[in-house]
Amino acid sequence: MIFLDAAATTPVRREVIEAMFPFLTNQFGNPSSHHELGEAAATALATARQEAADVLGCHAEELVFTSGGTEADNLALKGIALARRVADPRRTRVVISSIEHPAIADSADFLRRIHGFAIDVVPVDADGLVDPATFAEVMAGGDDVAISSVMYANNEVGTVQDIPALAAVATAAGVPLHTDAVQAGGWLELAPARLGVAAMSLSGHKLGAPKGVGLLYVSSGVQMEPLIHGGGQELGLRSGTENVAFAVALATALRLGEAGRGAAVERVMALREDFIATVLARIPDAVLTGHRTRRLPSVASFCFPGTSGESVLLELERRDVICSSGSACAAGSDEPSAVLIAMGLERGIAQTALRFSFGADVTAAQLGGAAEELAAAVERVQKLGAQR
Ligand code: PLP
Repeated sequence: MIFLDAAATTPVRREVIEAMFPFLTNQFGNPSSHHELGEAAATALATARQEAADVLGCHAEELVFTSGGTEADNLALKGIALARRVADPRRTRVVISSIEHPAIADSADFLRRIHGFAIDVVPVDADGLVDPATFAEVMAGGDDVAISSVMYANNEVGTVQDIPALAAVATAAGVPLHTDAVQAGGWLELAPARLGVAAMSLSGHKLGAPKGVGLLYVSSGVQMEPLIHGGGQELGLRSGTENVAFAVALATALRLGEAGRGAAVERVMALREDFIATVLARIPDAVLTGHRTRRLPSVASFCFPGTSGESVLLELERRDVICSSGSACAAGSDEPSAVLIAMGLERGIAQTALRFSFGADVTAAQLGGAAEELAAAVERVQKLGAQR
């Protein structure tokens, strides 16, 4: 099988399993317990937090372990919006981009429906990029904005935003910028201070850690209300007995990912370029979606007019090539991708989208084979469509 759906999830790395194993077995303590077993767990958690902070170049106290990218996004958007409006009731607006993951888009909608915030959506261009000047216009001074959020790299087309430029706009307006960096993990620069963001979400399972663990960075100067109340763990920002093993797993995966990032980016980017060139040459009406160069090294996404993405996906699966139509998070719905619609694609074309996303260990042989199978699958689906 050729697995080209790494943006949906990745297998857990062996080193990560080994690092977390003791905390699932003999070192199973609760970090809040005042005995040796508990203290060992607390130490492991603190070490994991410091290790993650070292990778991100931030303070350990600025990191909150969560149950995943979704929870990190929810906590950032809702927690910061609510805290900042309490501090200043004029801050009743939330600004997000038009291509956010549902974890942000639906959190914004919740803030509108239940808490009365106004939501302003910043459009993207045909490549999926937010123009900093447009962002500045929507922020309009920023006095009434509680929080803004623009994702770092898009999960469907891989377009990478100019986060430092957007963060400069937000900072000038006195508004915290949150970025969903779930897809950027392992591929792009993650230091929040260098990006200029006030908050940033990460997810373990895109990085070789298990599903069900994530991380939220929140700059020490930014107020945030917790969403989960209880025993006051995670500096009071996320109550509940900590998942020590998964925190260790995430920190280990982050450290390994960062150590191998430079080499992986160079190698995979070259393979991605070859793959894109081969697909565009072999399938004449194929359209690359997302920005031509400002894209994740690991993502190639296309539309294939005259097909349906779902049919080509199934045809490819029969040929042992695994990819994604739309994003897995939105899978199960027939609606064309909201991201592609926001980028200005027609509904009919958006329904023909497929995403190929690569792990750091992808090979030239796999991608060469996948491109051949893809050309055959698209041809077959187009022919079947024409006969109907
Ligand atoms: N944000 C983005 C951009 C994603 O791609 C995903 C998952 O695909 C998430 C958030 C959600 O992360 P998790 O699956 O860890 O909840």
